[in-house]
Formats: sequence, C-alpha cells, structure tokens
Amino acid sequence: MRTIGLIGGMSWESTVLYYQWINRGVRGRLGPLSSARLLLDSLDFAAIEVLQRQGDWTRAGEVLAASARRLEAGGAECIVLATNTMHKVADAIVQATPLPFLHIADATGAAIGAAGIRTVALLGTAFTMEEDFYRGRLRDAFGIRCVVPPADVRREVHRIIYEELCAGVVSERSRAFFRAVMAACVVDGAQGIILGCTEIGLLVGPQDSVVPLFDTAALHAAAAVDFSLAGA
Ligand code: GLU
Repeated sequence: MRTIGLIGGMSWESTVLYYQWINRGVRGRLGPLSSARLLLDSLDFAAIEVLQRQGDWTRAGEVLAASARRLEAGGAECIVLATNTMHKVADAIVQATPLPFLHIADATGAAIGAAGIRTVALLGTAFTMEEDFYRGRLRDAFGIRCVVPPADVRREVHRIIYEELCAGVVSERSRAFFRAVMAACVVDGAQGIILGCTEIGLLVGPQDSVVPLFDTAALHAAAAVDFSLAGA
C-alpha cells in the first residue's frame, strides 16, 4: 500500500469526507481492519480564503507547494489536493514535487466518461464554474461539455459554499435551492451534474436529482485509493 499525501483543510468539513471515503475504500478492498496509509497536511482555510478573495493566486500556489513538499518529506507517495477550487494553482504543486499529482478533474472526467455522458452541469465556487482551469481540462482531456447556471444562481451557489457549507452549516433552505438548480440544469440539457465543490455532498445526494451526480470528493478519494493499492 502506497502512502497518500492529502492537502486538506479547504475546508476541513470536506477533508473529513475524504478521510472517510479513503479509509472505507481501503477497507472494502483489503478487509475490515485495513485502513489507509495517509499523511494529512491540513491548512487554515481562513488564510486561504483571503488570498482567493484578493486574487493572490501566486501566494496561494506557494502555500500549497510548501504543503506538498512537507508531505513529500514526510514520506507521501502522491499528492491529493482536497478541493476543486485550489486546482487553479495545481501547476505550482506539480512543479514543487516529483510526486504524482492526482488531479480532481481527471477523477471526475473519467467517471463521467465511463457513464457515457457528454454534457454536464458544473456546480462549485465562482472560480470553478466561471474559469477555464476545470472546465477546460474536462473539455480537452475528456471531451466533456460543462454548462453552468446563470449569474444570479452562481452567486448564490458560491455564497452557500463559503457562508454555509465551509462553515459547517447545512440548511433545508439551501438544499431546496440546490434541488431546484439541479432540476433547471436538467431542463437545460444536462445529462449529469458535477458536485464540483467538495462540500456539496454534505447538502445533496442522488435522491435529490433525476440525473446522475458526480461527487468530486468521493471520486477523488476513490482515485487516491486506486493509486495507493495499485499492485497491492
Ligand atoms: N472545497 C471547495 C471546492 O472544492 C471550496 C473551498 C475552496 O475554495 O477551496 O472548491
């Protein structure tokens, strides 16, 4: 079993889910008492969120690169960055360490491709929904077309992520809002929905959608397990 290096804390609400998914995955493959070899470097999201808001992605990349180097020094054999948004600075990590970097969009794209789906709705932070670092990778590497909700809906999705989900608040009002957003995306032609923020799985699940959901935290954790157990 290879040791997974997890950069977490963005937010810790979803890092908890990664830890559970990864350990359940190892248990399912190796047996009831087996658990993952894993190093976690958990960052202070308040400091990261300030850098995001200020647009200081260079500094954010430096912070994540330093985290990856700590994990490498500790014996990690791959890097898993437990947030979609911060993949905006994935290159800084890739350049910081020779360890394999398990990109969250690759895990997601592979699952969507395996489901035979070509057009998906993408829900996540404004950075993830509106910029090209995520959608572009799905398009170029997997031929997947992402559609996003209108601007006012994107603003509310973004607000719910930062003000509620990352702060540990799961509300019925927001669940109903997400259900309605997902239904509207299906009417607009989405054959599936990417939960493109690692906390959204706290709010909605398959029972809330008529089309398949692609929960990026669960898919990314599964990719980490595959890496860890390859050849085991
Ligand atoms: N965890 C979230 C994501 O997957 C949002 C928090 C962040 O901005 O890193 O994008």
